[in-house]
Amino acid sequence: MAVEDSTVQVVVRVRPPNPRELESQRRPVVQVVDERVLVFDPEEPEVGFPGLKLSSTHDGPKKKGKDLTFVFDRIFGEGATQQDVFQHTTHSILDSFLQGYNCSVFAYGATGAGKTHTMLGKERDPGIMYLTTMELYRRLEARQEERQFEVLISYQEVRLFLPPPPLLQPPKGRVSCWGRGPGGGRWKTAQGNRNRTQHPTDGQCHFLPIFVKQQDRVPGLTQALQVRASNTCAKGERLREGANINRSLLALINVLNALADAKGRKSHVPYRDSKLTRLLKDSIGGNCRTVMIAAVSPSSLAYEDTYNTLKYADRAKEI
Ligand code: ADP
Repeated sequence: MAVEDSTVQVVVRVRPPNPRELESQRRPVVQVVDERVLVFDPEEPEVGFPGLKLSSTHDGPKKKGKDLTFVFDRIFGEGATQQDVFQHTTHSILDSFLQGYNCSVFAYGATGAGKTHTMLGKERDPGIMYLTTMELYRRLEARQEERQFEVLISYQEVRLFLPPPPLLQPPKGRVSCWGRGPGGGRWKTAQGNRNRTQHPTDGQCHFLPIFVKQQDRVPGLTQALQVRASNTCAKGERLREGANINRSLLALINVLNALADAKGRKSHVPYRDSKLTRLLKDSIGGNCRTVMIAAVSPSSLAYEDTYNTLKYADRAKEI
C-alpha cells in the first residue's frame, strides 16, 4: 500500500548524538540502513559516532546485540532537516485534510529524544507545526477564488494529570486566526511555546488544533457549509519516567493496540481511559489520517527508551 493510502503512517526520527552521548563514547544502537529500514542494537556496529574511537571498556563492538530489523514508512537519520521530515509526513496528508479527513500528527518518545525539536523547532529552524500551517495557508490562498475559508487555530497545553487550562476562545471573522494570517499563526506558536511551563515529572501535551470551514463561492451553493477537518498536533512528553510508563501514554498504547486488534472487526477501543486518548479520538480512529513520529536517540545511553519507542512504533504500524 502506498504511504499516502494508509490510515496511519509511522515514521522514526533519529536525532544526532548530544555532547553527553559523544563524551560517553558509547556505541550507537540505531543503524539507519536506508529510508525505510533500521537495525536496533546491531550485532557488529561498524563504526562509532564520527570522530570517536570505541573503547573496549564500554559496550563496544564485541558485544552481542539484539540485532532487530525494523521497517517503517520512513526513517529520518541524523542528517534529516525539518523540511525533509515535513515533506514526507504532513505535507503528504494535507490533500486528505482539504478533502475532509481528520488529520493528525503526533510525536512521541522519551524525554530528550527530539519531539519538541521536530514539532516546534526553533525560530530559525521551525518544526513541522509551523511548516504545515504555512503550507495549509498557501493552499487555501490558492483556492480563494472558488471557496471561502474560515480558519481557527489555537495553541493549547494540556497537562495530563492536572485540570486543563481553559481552552482559548476561537476568534470571530471570515478568515481569521490568532494574530494576522500566517504570520499570526507563527507568533502564536512561538508565544505558546515560550510560555509553556516545565513540569519535570508531569505528562504534558501540546496541541495545535486547526479547524478549516470551507464554503463554495458558486451561487446557489452558498448554504452548503461544511466543517471539514481538524488537525491536531500533539506532543507527548515523558514516554517513560524511570521504570514507569505514564498513564496517558499507556492508555494511548492500549488504544493503538485495540485498533490494531480490531482491524476489520467491531470491538471495544478504550478511548475514555485518559484525557490524551479522548482528545485524540477523532484523529486516530474512523475517517482519519494519522502520522506518528517516533523520536529516538542514537546512543546506547538511551537503550531501553529507544527499544520501547521502536516496539510501540512497530505495533502502531498494524493499525
Ligand atoms: P524532547 O522534546 O523529546 O524532550 P527535544 O526536542 O527538546 O526533546 O530535544 C533534546 C535536545 O536535542 C534539544 O537540545 C534539541 O535541540 C536537540 N535535538 C533534538 N532533535 C534534534 C535534531 N534532529 N537535530 C539537532 N538537534 C536536535
